[in-house]
Amino acid sequence: MNQPAITYFALIAPACVVLFGFALLTCWYVQRRQPQAVFLLWLSGSFMSLATALALQSLMSNAQLGQFALATACLYLMGCWSLAQGMSLRLRGKGVSVSGGLLIASVTLAVLFYYSQLENNLLLRIQSLAFAMALMQALALPAFVQLKPAQDWVESLVRWTYGISVGYALFRPLAVSLLPVNELQELTRSGYWAFAQVMALVFAMLFTVGLLACSVRDMVTNLRDERNRDPLTRLLNRRAFMEAGQSVLADRRLAPWALVAVDIDHFKRINDNWGHAAGDQVLVQLGQLLPQQVRDKDLVARFGGEEFILLLNRVQMSEAHPVVDRVRMQMRAHAFEHLPERIRMTASFGIVPVRSAEELAEALCQADALLYAAKRAGRDCVQAAMTVARPIDDEHAAIESVADTALSA
Ligand code: GH3
Ligand code: MG
Ligand code: MG
Repeated sequence: MNQPAITYFALIAPACVVLFGFALLTCWYVQRRQPQAVFLLWLSGSFMSLATALALQSLMSNAQLGQFALATACLYLMGCWSLAQGMSLRLRGKGVSVSGGLLIASVTLAVLFYYSQLENNLLLRIQSLAFAMALMQALALPAFVQLKPAQDWVESLVRWTYGISVGYALFRPLAVSLLPVNELQELTRSGYWAFAQVMALVFAMLFTVGLLACSVRDMVTNLRDERNRDPLTRLLNRRAFMEAGQSVLADRRLAPWALVAVDIDHFKRINDNWGHAAGDQVLVQLGQLLPQQVRDKDLVARFGGEEFILLLNRVQMSEAHPVVDRVRMQMRAHAFEHLPERIRMTASFGIVPVRSAEELAEALCQADALLYAAKRAGRDCVQAAMTVARPIDDEHAAIESVADTALSA
């Protein structure tokens, strides 16, 4: 591998691929605690493997290319399989077939062995390896079926460039075999070859840059979520609610507002009777139930323990009360998983009107005071500013409320 300096220029491409690989590795490292970020490791591994194969190939003479054909092919095939694995994990959280990959690799290596050791044919080697690489990448195509719409145009770019590149790579061997060339040199000098190489490079660059942009965007979103969201329920935490609340209350188009404090009744008994894990599950399910009951732009936060806060937009107190009462009814009608079927949970509520961002802190204190008034009034009821507590209805009299559950149940 003692090559003239000019040959080392060919290392620029693999060096760029290695840099992209490191960038993806860094994105994975930052998000390594998120299990779904593992796709970045596969993508990074793919870039490293492809870069090594490219670098070795650039430094080899034609004779060495034949001699090491199987080794470089292994690196290329591993790189493409990892790429498909990374894409599939990213798109649907499920990897690609290992046995499919091994089958493609063994058939390809057998063909390459024949055309390198028994009959030296570089053109056929290139053709079969390129087709096998396309097949490897095509293993990720099932992940494209029934895919959720892309979040933004960068995500669409990544999907389209991957799909088009794989589609074209599968068709390329046929295109090459239709060309009137017999020798590799004739092929590499043809206009088709130059055009195909440029297009492949453009697509690879668009895909890689799009992928990095998406990874950085995901990283920022995840870091922001980690800072702003309660890890158990994924609802806003207290600090994020105060921030978001200030900006919502500054938007006069969303006026008037109502602030609702929610506290689960006798939650301690859930932990005592069915364990802390069951209690956690109740909080998780309530974290899903509450946002379903309000509008998209309303804020829902977990303020700590078993206490939640809602900020409802564009509601008068006369409208807020029935909304909150509906949430209360939903809550007591809900069969929580991880609890016996007969057990129902209830919660108490306090509602106050809010007219501006300056009033938020005071409104939180008032809502809390009303919530405790609701507790004193017997729980499972709504206390609104200037209203009296509603009596507990008995439509679920046949169902055991957690309030009736003895500690020894
Ligand atoms: P009340 O009707 O008066 O609100 O009674 P309560 O039992 O709901 O209220 P209390 O304040 O006596 O107890 C709250 C319990 O919530 C105590 C605590 O162990 C439990 N808790 C707080 N945070 C969590 C959590 O993240 N997971 C679980 N499983 N329990 C929690
Ligand atoms: Mg409670
Ligand atoms: Mg409480």
